[in-house]
Amino acid sequence: MALIVQKFGGSSVADAEKINRVAGIIKDTYDAGNSVIVVLSAQGDTTDDLIDKAHEINPAPSKREMDMLLSTGEQISIALCAMALERMNVPVVSLTGWQIGMRTDSSYSSARIKSVATERIRAELDRKRVVLVAGFQGVNKFDDVTTLGRGGSDTTAVAIAAKLHADLCQIYTDVTGVFTADPRLVPTAHQLAEITYDEMLELASLGAQVLHNRSVEMARRYGVNLEVLSSYERKPGTKVKEVVKMEETKISGIAKDSNIARIALVGLKDEPGVAFKIFRDMAKAKINVDIILQSIGRDSTKDISFTVAQSDVDAAMKTLMDNRDAIGFQNLSMDDTVCKLSIVGAGMINSPGIAAMMFEALYDAKVNIRMISTSEIKVSVLIDEADSDIAMKAVHQKFFGE
Ligand code: ADP
Ligand code: ASP
Ligand code: MG
Repeated sequence: MALIVQKFGGSSVADAEKINRVAGIIKDTYDAGNSVIVVLSAQGDTTDDLIDKAHEINPAPSKREMDMLLSTGEQISIALCAMALERMNVPVVSLTGWQIGMRTDSSYSSARIKSVATERIRAELDRKRVVLVAGFQGVNKFDDVTTLGRGGSDTTAVAIAAKLHADLCQIYTDVTGVFTADPRLVPTAHQLAEITYDEMLELASLGAQVLHNRSVEMARRYGVNLEVLSSYERKPGTKVKEVVKMEETKISGIAKDSNIARIALVGLKDEPGVAFKIFRDMAKAKINVDIILQSIGRDSTKDISFTVAQSDVDAAMKTLMDNRDAIGFQNLSMDDTVCKLSIVGAGMINSPGIAAMMFEALYDAKVNIRMISTSEIKVSVLIDEADSDIAMKAVHQKFFGE
């Protein structure tokens, strides 16, 4: 008998038929003699619909009230799925984040998990019940509801698996595992049998939404036995683990992030302290800056451009305008029609020429590169969003063939 945590994403519980299918998977796992904890996301587009609803009432609602609203989606899913299991005569109980003692910090809309109490879950498992937990939500020190950020139900599942030392944490979704690229964008992408935590963390952080990046970070820290698999097809998924059998490929995957904007400051004085002032102001405004490029401008001036998440772009532009005199730029511009394309692979550390291969693929596809950034296990380029489809396919073809 094993302790298994299963998480089902929004599309897997989108309607009654799908909930019944998910309940069938849970029942089979339970009937095989396992202790089962299940984390569910909100049904289908519920979270997006709730966001739209909020904006009809108030274009800038407080984050606290947004979390109160968005957390309701997951609650609907667990209650409905519990009803499906009741009908199949499986003993079950549904519990909210508060009921399982999911404690977070107070950053509404992107809260971090601080602790998970185990008493209630263990008591319910001892009573031989399947425990259904609302994903994505917790409570802060004021007992107010918080959410973990979009896609955060994966992190709920991994946190529970880590805390209860589960034998396995299965993330069921609408694809059969982790692929070399998003299979919806690159039809020739192939599924990986396994991937290291480090590579998966990079891919997730660089836009592969198949796993919430914080869930991978947590799985790595606590050594959680993680698997991504399909709710629709019963076949082996992708194992995310510490060491992977060395395959021949130098890179394991390609990811795209479209939630990005490029800000350019033109005509800055070419003297010490200018970059410091810009990025100090960004840090004060709690804005994460990603790729940075400094270049020589006209008449002994310099230009600095950098990327931020699209959700931060208004705040970044306002901060720069507010500090225009102190920073001293001639022009400020913003472009949100860009995206970041990245290749990830632990194998590239000892393989010169990987970046060149990527650039050659982009050159052959006539895609212009606007910015470049590299680390030991990734190369990222900023390109026009309009080029992203062809660029992704060209780079995939270069490294993985048809
Ligand atoms: P869920 O609702 O189950 O949490 P998500 O939509 O968050 O599902 O994540 C699954 C989606 O991630 C897939 O439908 C796929 O389009 C996308 N995706 C992006 N990159 C990858 C990748 N490398 N491998 C598999 N899926 C990916
Ligand atoms: N329902 C939330 C979202 O859509 C959390 C999740 O699905 O993981 O982002
Ligand atoms: Mg998800």
